[in-house]
Amino acid sequence: EKTSVTLLGLGAMGTALARTWLAAGHPLTVWNRTPARAAALAADGAEVADTAAEAVAANTLIVVCLLDDASVGEALAGTDLTDRDLVNLTTSTPGQARARAEWARERGARHLDGGIMAVPPMIGVPEAGGYVFYSGSRELFERHRETLAVPAGTTYVGEDAGFAALHDVALLSAMYGMFAGTAHAFALIRGENIDPVSFAPLLADWLVAMAPAVHRTADQLRSGDYTKGVVSDLAMQVAGTPAFLSTAEQQGVSPELLSPYFELMRRRLAEGGGEEDLTGVIDLLTR
Ligand code: NDP
Repeated sequence: EKTSVTLLGLGAMGTALARTWLAAGHPLTVWNRTPARAAALAADGAEVADTAAEAVAANTLIVVCLLDDASVGEALAGTDLTDRDLVNLTTSTPGQARARAEWARERGARHLDGGIMAVPPMIGVPEAGGYVFYSGSRELFERHRETLAVPAGTTYVGEDAGFAALHDVALLSAMYGMFAGTAHAFALIRGENIDPVSFAPLLADWLVAMAPAVHRTADQLRSGDYTKGVVSDLAMQVAGTPAFLSTAEQQGVSPELLSPYFELMRRRLAEGGGEEDLTGVIDLLTR
């Protein structure tokens, strides 16, 4: 028998989640602040609760996917969470997730936090590779693992309720670094007779080729030896930075996305890290 699910929040993400549970035959009770968003799901067999309190009363497993942590507080304010399994897929900070876990405990609920590493079209499409980071109660994760795996893959990252959010933000932060780099690259070729559509595969392939460097960084962080397996040392890389800056200038491109990173590289070199990899920059950030 499939676990019954209550889902609070029928935005783009909540609706995508709801569809997968319905399609997989899980009895589903939904609630949304704006009731109209539940109509299509009702036609497909979802129970629609008039209030969040009613929805929470309907099942033990309560999945929440609202805009932000504040909306979770508002939506759950008048509900009885006693003995409920609360799985919060709303994006939050590690601090908010930890506070929400404590808040849930005080109300007699078990708590699991999730960070969704997917956009709505990837939900229910296993080959798209989307997944959700979970942290908090391991027992809760194990109990509902199969149900939680219906919309997307599941990756449990620890008992600390804040770890799912931390993993989520860490990966997305790296993604923004990549987007910053690609913005600079496209800016450099813009205005030249280079077709961005022909350039894009070169760029994408290069990023993929460079991505495994994170394993060397991790290895160096673990061993504490930042010269381990170094391919291009910091002294050499800093020596190359003027070429990047003058190319930007010649192309009329602001160096503002590259400069902060180069500045950190120079500082580490000045401290004597010339034979290291780029890993020493992490020390400068975390001091
Ligand atoms: P939407 O903006 O589409 O939906 C927001 C939902 O939150 C709606 O159901 C809305 O209700 C509800 N809501 C907002 N404020 C309140 C409140 N004060 N009380 C009750 N309900 C409220 O967002 P998504 O569905 O896209 O996102 C939901 C969560 O999923 C977010 O935390 C987001 O960061 C996360 N996520 C989203 C991704 C995406 O690509 N969409 C990717 C990864 C994570 P109403 O309909 O009444 O406005």
